Parts: sequence; structure tokens; C-alpha cells
Amino acid sequence: MAKKYEGPAIGIDLGTTYSCVAVWQEQNNRAEIIHNDQGNRITPSFVAFTHDQRLIGDAAKNQAASNPSNTIYDAKRLIGRKYKDIQNDIQLWPFKVIAGIDDNPWILVNYKGKEKHFFAEEISAMLLTKMREIAAKFLESPVKNAVITVPAYFNDSQRKATVDAGTVAGLNVMRIINEPTAAAIAYGLQKRTNCTEKRNIFIFDLGGGTFDVSLLTIKNNVFEVKAVAGDTHLGGEDFDNRMMNHFVEEFKRKKKVDISGNPGSLRRLRNSCERAKRILSFAVVATIEVNALFQGIDLSSSITRAKFEDINMDLFEKCMDIVNRCFVDSGMDKSSVDDVVLIGGSSRIPKLHQLLQEFFEGKELCMSINPDEAVAYGAAVHAAMLSVKSIPNILLRDVIPLSLGTSIKGDIMDVLVPRNTSVPITKKKTYFTDVDNQSRVLIKVYEGESSIASENNLLGLFSLSLPLAPRGLPIQVCFAIDKDGILNLSAEEETGGNKKNIMLTNEKERLSTEELERMIQEAENFEAEDTKLEHKAKAMNDLNDYLCHVRKVISDNDVGSLICPVDKLKIYTAVVKSQNLLDGNKHEETHVFVDFLKEFQNMVDSALYKISKGV
Ligand code: AMP
Repeated sequence: MAKKYEGPAIGIDLGTTYSCVAVWQEQNNRAEIIHNDQGNRITPSFVAFTHDQRLIGDAAKNQAASNPSNTIYDAKRLIGRKYKDIQNDIQLWPFKVIAGIDDNPWILVNYKGKEKHFFAEEISAMLLTKMREIAAKFLESPVKNAVITVPAYFNDSQRKATVDAGTVAGLNVMRIINEPTAAAIAYGLQKRTNCTEKRNIFIFDLGGGTFDVSLLTIKNNVFEVKAVAGDTHLGGEDFDNRMMNHFVEEFKRKKKVDISGNPGSLRRLRNSCERAKRILSFAVVATIEVNALFQGIDLSSSITRAKFEDINMDLFEKCMDIVNRCFVDSGMDKSSVDDVVLIGGSSRIPKLHQLLQEFFEGKELCMSINPDEAVAYGAAVHAAMLSVKSIPNILLRDVIPLSLGTSIKGDIMDVLVPRNTSVPITKKKTYFTDVDNQSRVLIKVYEGESSIASENNLLGLFSLSLPLAPRGLPIQVCFAIDKDGILNLSAEEETGGNKKNIMLTNEKERLSTEELERMIQEAENFEAEDTKLEHKAKAMNDLNDYLCHVRKVISDNDVGSLICPVDKLKIYTAVVKSQNLLDGNKHEETHVFVDFLKEFQNMVDSALYKISKGV
């Protein structure tokens, strides 16, 4: 089969707390996880704004405690959601989020001394840009094509918003695939090659902010999802929050001070809690030490694994309820599962292993694939499959995570496509007008499981003009869901053989073309600024290296003593000037360093030339 995409194609796992990028390496016949500029294979999903630059990844996370209100994380918890739906998160974030147009959340930051607002799509786009650049550096070639993963439980708005973020990042999003499906591909390829017998695989994916489970069957190269379940708001950060609250209360009790209103102290406490949580995955007790946590008072304490489990038990049980729901939906018995595969950083928590083993009646859990990298690995395999000729095709059959339907009289949810239906799929249904001479009909499309339509997620509201006719005029509504789970709607009215077809897409929920163009332009401006900063850093480094070299030369007795006093004075003056330039670099342009370096080199070369000629 001809491949549709030209050029390199990468797989990106855009995580709540960490992101990871991978690419298929034909020569090794495997996907390669690409390390970032710090040498790390995963990159924190953090973006920070300072008085003079924007930082992404490790650099942003490292300065979070000193710049909490301008360090943005959790964009994945914001993307594709409405302001009214994120009220609980807002209480916990040290950065400001306000309601923008159409109740879309706007993230407020202070950048270069000015207040600026960003959509979650823009922050995600910055992270995707970083991952694209990491890949481009590794491949030594520009990268455009990407497969991006999302939690299986992401709704339609969240998926579309992720595609928009990819577009803003200058990527051609070849496909959006579900994280557990990507992990299953990685598992199938790494551990079950030549799987000719049908195997039932259960993927348990608990990350930093989202939880997904997925039940699939693998046979040959066909990956068929049977059912998914999850919660886009459950993960490692919730466990960190619980531990943080525990220590905030303890600090209040023991030291009589309340740190809950201090974002800097909370950030430092959060970092320590996250570290302690990781330790508790292999030790039974972890210490917490934070110097001068608040008003110069230190925090020095510890937490046992038992306490950690106790304060999070309801969340762990919530995970297990979701596991159970997946089996109920699939109609499959848990005893028919061949492999239980754990992925996502939080799947390392021992209590969850115990609960899962109990659920699967003592079955061994598969923890042999890297839980932080499996999703990006699978995405890279899929990306290669779409673009590299030599990769065998994998057939993915996914399902929709939430039921889709319309609102009918009495605010009732009329489900057209039940959750866990395989996609792609097209479903049509005919409705009838219920009054004479109705001039238009309003079609409301919802996603969710409540029988009361308005309690579900409103995907779109469409008005269709009708010709004057007695009641009972048929209107056909068509739901077409593509292989990425993205919904396209059409409504059509048929009278006297006259067909009127209207393609409807839910533009109100998505970014407008103008907004997208503005974001793309802004992303290009940011990239240009980053390049400018990189050039400046290089020019400064070059000058610094040369300065060190000259200092060595003039302090070398054999050479230094031969330089004539006039030249020596000039060189000393240039050394001082270089140092001053480097120390007070903030406002100088790149060319100042480049020009000065040239002048400096000429001066030193001329002095050395005179020595060599015995002048
Ligand atoms: P992911 O989104 O898959 O990158 O997972 C990130 C989450 O995994 C973060 O909340 C981490 O704190 C958590 N995590 C990573 N390693 C461990 C560990 N050893 N024990 C518990 N949680 C972990």
C-alpha cells in the first residue's frame, strides 16, 4: 500500500506531567526514544515565562519554585475544557486562569513585564514544538509529521483541541491515537512478536493526570480495542496533592503557620512530596526535608507507605471501579485476559499492584515494558507505519469512549452511538418535526452517559432551516466518526424528492481560523525569539572561550613576557571590557559580542604576529 506521508514521522506522548518523543529507526528495526538537550528521555510538560524569555521542559520546571505564578503545567487538564469545568483545579494551581470568550479558559502570565493570556492549546503547542525540535536535532532534519497520543477517555473537544495544538506547533498531525492502544502496540512488538494466536491484553495506564484502561485483542497485526474506560482527571498529581495537604496540616499543627496561601512554598513542598511518593514505591518510609519552607521555618518530617495508602485509598478504589466498568462494558470475563500490562509513571505504586492482583485473582502483572516510554514507542511505530514503506501495516480498530446522541423532547439523551462502539462508523437516524410550518429545527449533540441530555457534554448546537410543511417532516441526522474518534455531523431534510445536505462541524467548540492563524504566527514569533536567544548565547560563549584562551596566553611567561607593553595594555583593557560585557549582558544585542570578539581576535593576532616576526 502506498504511504501517504513524506519525510520523517515521529510519535509524541504529550503527557500531563512529562512528554516523550520517539522515532522508528529502520536500521535497528525498532523505535528509538529520543533524549532531550539535558540528556533526559522524558521532558517535563512545563512552560515558564520570565522577564526576558520563555522556557520549556526541564528549564521551566527547574525554576518553578521561584516563579510559580508564571510557570504553567497541567495544560492537558485544561485543553478542550470549559472554565466552569475546571474550578477544582484552579484552587490548586499557582498560576492564574480566567474565563475567556465562550467560557474557554485563559491562562494569565507576566511575560517580559506585560500581562499575556494563552489558551491551553497554545501551551500544549509550545510543548509539542519542543518535542518536534528534540526530534529534529536527533534526526538532523526538519520534522513535520507526527502521531500524537491522547487518553482513551478524552472527549471529542479534547481531541480536536489537541489536533489544533499540533497545527499551531507546525506539525502535520497524521493521527491521534489512544495512549493505551499505543502502549499495546509497543507491548505487542516488544514482547509478543509473531503473535498468531489471539491474545487478550488489558492495559492499565495511570499517569500524572489521567487514568485509562483498555481491553484489546491482538492477533497477527490486528489490534482490536474491545472496551475503554477511564477518568481524564485522576493520576499522580492527585496523590501528590493529598500528600501536600497532609503536610500543610501537619505544619499548621506543629509550627502554627499556614503555608496554603504561598505558591512558592507550596511548589517546593509539592516537589518534595512527589519525590517522597516515588521513594514509597520501593521503600516503606520516606523523609521530607524542606529548608526554610515558610518564614525561615524548616519542614523535617516523614511519611510511611501505609499513611500514603491511607490518604489515597479512595482514589485507588476509584481506579479499581473503572477497571471493573471496562469489563462490564466489554462483556468479557476477567479470567480471559492473557496479559495485564502496566504503564504510566503512577502504575509503579505497590498498593495498585496488590489491588490489581486481587482483582485478577493472583495473575502475574506485566511490568517489563518501560511505563514512561511505551506510549511514545507505540506512537512512533504507528507514525512509521503511515510513512515508511518497509513497516508492515498494523490494523487498529478503536472504540469511542463516550456515548453520542442528540437531545429529544423533555431533555432526554437519545443515544445514536453507544460508548465502546468500534470506529470508524456512520450512524443515521430520522427525526420528525412536531408542529406545523416549523421554520427551523435545533439539533443539540451531546456526549456522555447521563440520560438527561443537558447533564452531558454539549458538543454542538445546530440550526437547520426548513420549508413550510405540516408536522412530521423527516430530518435525517448523520453521525460520522472517523478512525481518530473525531466526529463530523450532517443533517439533511428531504421534501418532495428535494434533498438538502448540510455538512455541520462544531466550529464554536474549536478555535476559529483567525485564532489559529494568530496562534501559528505567535508560535513562529516565539521560535524566532528562541533562535535569537540561542545565537546570543553562542556569541557570549564564544567570547567567553576566547577570553579564557587570552588569559592563558598572557599569563604564559614564554609568550606573555614577549608582548610589547603597548599591546599588553590594549589586551588587558580588552580583557576587562570583555568581562564587563559578559557580566552585564542583558541588554546587549548579539552583534555587540560578535563584533567585539572579532576586534579582540585581531588585536591579539597582531600582537602575536609581531612576536613571531621579532618586531
Ligand atoms: P506519566 O504521565 O506516565 O509520565 O507519569 C507521571 C506520573 O508518574 C507523575 O505523577 C510521577 O510522580 C509518577 N511516578 C513516576 N515514577 C513513580 C514511582 N516510582 N512511584 C509513584 N509514582 C511515580
